[in-house]
Amino acid sequence: MSGKPMPDRLVLLGSKGGPALRPGGPWPSSSLLEIGGRTIVVDCGLGVTRGLVDAGISLKALDLIFITHLHSDHLLELGPLVHTAWTAGLATPVNVFGPPGTGHYWRRFCQAMEFDIEIRIVDEGRPDIRELVSISEFAEGHVLDQHGLKVTALRVDHPPVTDCFALRFERGGKSVVFSADTAFFPPLADFAKDADILVHEAMLEEGIERLVARTGNGARLREHLLASHSFAEDAGRIASDAGVKRLVLNHLIPADDAEIGEVDWLAAVRKTWAGDLTIARDGLVVELSGAKAAQGEETA
Ligand SMILES: [Zn+2]
Ligand SMILES: [Zn+2]
Repeated sequence: MSGKPMPDRLVLLGSKGGPALRPGGPWPSSSLLEIGGRTIVVDCGLGVTRGLVDAGISLKALDLIFITHLHSDHLLELGPLVHTAWTAGLATPVNVFGPPGTGHYWRRFCQAMEFDIEIRIVDEGRPDIRELVSISEFAEGHVLDQHGLKVTALRVDHPPVTDCFALRFERGGKSVVFSADTAFFPPLADFAKDADILVHEAMLEEGIERLVARTGNGARLREHLLASHSFAEDAGRIASDAGVKRLVLNHLIPADDAEIGEVDWLAAVRKTWAGDLTIARDGLVVELSGAKAAQGEETA
């Protein structure tokens, strides 16, 4: 640690929706929120560990992890992240907050890695990773109130997953809200009221058909996307109703279609949102002081 105060910032580590990877494309869902000296990871899709290291985070400083729901594009790398932090010298507790089932995932992960864990404890004298990690399964409402950091959850609409939660982080008068995965869900506007940043998932209508054709299980995938996710216009509607200072479009679907660019996202979201806007890319930093994007911002 350098000792100088870190500026509050949001880093979008992985910006695509869904678990598939394609050459040159972005990675699944994970974000870093640094607020009031706390290091908070929101979702652990594949690539979260690499993303944190690239963002300059010492894995030993891992502190709080939140999982919005148990879809693999938000969960797959939770175990590997914590395990890698452990082998990097983690010696302080990590608190993981997730929906019911998070503890089951973690216990089974540790079982799957039992050989490695046991041998490192004996051979390298490491603390027991199973005792360093505490898992708290949360439901709607209050999640955490600790050293001025307040976290609340709102159940959103992401069928067939019932335990999927938007999260609101508040500290020192700053607030950041993550929509999680959801279909257009008007109660999110109240939940995100006056937030500095709303990170909302978004898909683009004209990209869906091409994505469905490429992925192979057409009708079912289209059905899932339409029932469980929001169009960019919906995200803009929530942001406008909530009166947030900045909207970040994230969990983009499609995210790696050469025919779809920033101009298409803008055209969609500008129908319903006139305020400050960021379209997520892997590694993009959004400063929280004044909620200005550090790079690549699109400002009204
Ligand atoms: Zn997702
Ligand atoms: Zn999902």
